[in-house]
Amino acid sequence: MTDALWFDPAEMLIGGRWLRASDTLPLGNPSDGTTLAEIPRGQSRDIDAAVAAADQALRGEWGRMTALERGRVLARIGQAVLDRVEELATLEALDVGKPLKQARADAVALARYCEFYAGAADKLHGETIPYLDGYTVLTLRQPHGVTGHIVPWNYPMQIIGRSVGAALAMGNACVLKPAEEACLTALAFARIARDAGLPDGALNVVPGIGAEAGAALTAHPGVHHISFTGSVRTGQLVQEAAARNVIPVTLELGGKSPQIVFEDADLDAALPFLVNAGIQNAGQTCSAASRILVHRSLHDDVVARMAARYHALRVGPALDDLDVGPLISARQRELVEGFLAKAEDLTVAAQGQVVGDGGHYVAPTLLTGATPDHPLAQAEIFGPVQVVLPFETEAEAIAIANGTDYGLVAGVWTRDGARQMRMARDLKAGQVFVNNYGAGGGVELPFGGVGKSGHGREKGFEALYGFSQLKTVAVHHG
Ligand code: NAD
Repeated sequence: MTDALWFDPAEMLIGGRWLRASDTLPLGNPSDGTTLAEIPRGQSRDIDAAVAAADQALRGEWGRMTALERGRVLARIGQAVLDRVEELATLEALDVGKPLKQARADAVALARYCEFYAGAADKLHGETIPYLDGYTVLTLRQPHGVTGHIVPWNYPMQIIGRSVGAALAMGNACVLKPAEEACLTALAFARIARDAGLPDGALNVVPGIGAEAGAALTAHPGVHHISFTGSVRTGQLVQEAAARNVIPVTLELGGKSPQIVFEDADLDAALPFLVNAGIQNAGQTCSAASRILVHRSLHDDVVARMAARYHALRVGPALDDLDVGPLISARQRELVEGFLAKAEDLTVAAQGQVVGDGGHYVAPTLLTGATPDHPLAQAEIFGPVQVVLPFETEAEAIAIANGTDYGLVAGVWTRDGARQMRMARDLKAGQVFVNNYGAGGGVELPFGGVGKSGHGREKGFEALYGFSQLKTVAVHHG
């Protein structure tokens, strides 16, 4: 077990108690292929216990807290996370394989979500509605109850921050099922939150396999809302299970996001965003800009300038803090290599350099020569692979950008203000960035997709509506 572990990762948190599951799973280190630790292999009975503990919390100390008090607890958790950024970043780097500086940014974002939702906890309220004579009608904003949170392996800290943070702010009690490939920071966060005063049962963490603990959580009749981030296929299963219990579900299922470079773009400003948004976290980012659409007049220039950056990229172990780390698993590397094998008809404009050894490394690859309907320009690859596609007109750019099953994020680079507004209106995406792409992290910015990218919005104030429900009270007083 690594020295970075300051707790026993084989324990899960249920109702304020750290417990062992009947079985464990090995947790891989993507940087060298070794085993980092054994983690709990939660079963449906553990999920039952966690849901019961969350329900109990709603009827106990947690459920009785005012919005102000919940905010104060979240504020303390945010500060405690900030105090431990380095420890959390090291765990995330080891577990996910992302370079330390990216893991550090994720830990700071986790703190920022806690801070944001701490401040927001007592800011959302109901209304009064003019109605019939002799009536007063008001709306109450109330928690759903027990919320299930199924988190993937690519950004555990950020995704926990945005979904658990908002759910707790609104007074829900959470059952969190982190991914079997990466769950150390979920367990660390739960310890930090408890030490900061989060009451027993308000947050329960049960690691395990998706088809076991994950499926048990989504099917559980005691769960009142599910927040899921991951693949389209699993998202469909989650929505089917939620439909059987008739509960709301938020799905964030990834994308094939474009950045569009018009002929009047400020290329010096665009270049870092074009490349970083493709290779950050080794491309394993739902909002990765995996398609770069470039006006034909600039195509060769942009490709040459991106290629120069690609040639300088170094890929190696997370703790060496290079530009790019390994992929999460051998399976993910095989998936990405499978896509690259389908790129024989394309041109490899540039590749980065793998200096690491023994881990799940893939050289970042910049591809040209694809048509918009090429498999590599359509599928979410979830690896460090970008495809450059030329276009002639604004209408063609929109058609290509909107021409996939997804619609998560889009970026537009142009100095033309009217065009900026037309693109913002016409792009099929939950977020459109103009002359930036994901700048500032976006804790405050509502986030989610259209089409196969999912539905519902997390992040920002908007998430608080999703994690609560409205009750209308009509009082007849004459
Ligand atoms: P996945 O969707 O299977 O896993 C995501 C989470 O869902 C994990 O916690 C997993 O344990 C859980 N899960 C799996 N099966 C479940 C089930 N039947 N019921 C409930 N929960 C279940 O994703 P994956 O297999 O880890 O990755 C496969 C592909 O998904 C990737 O190649 C990538 O394209 C995509 N992906 C997208 C995101 C994203 O941020 N949108 C994140 C991870 C993976």
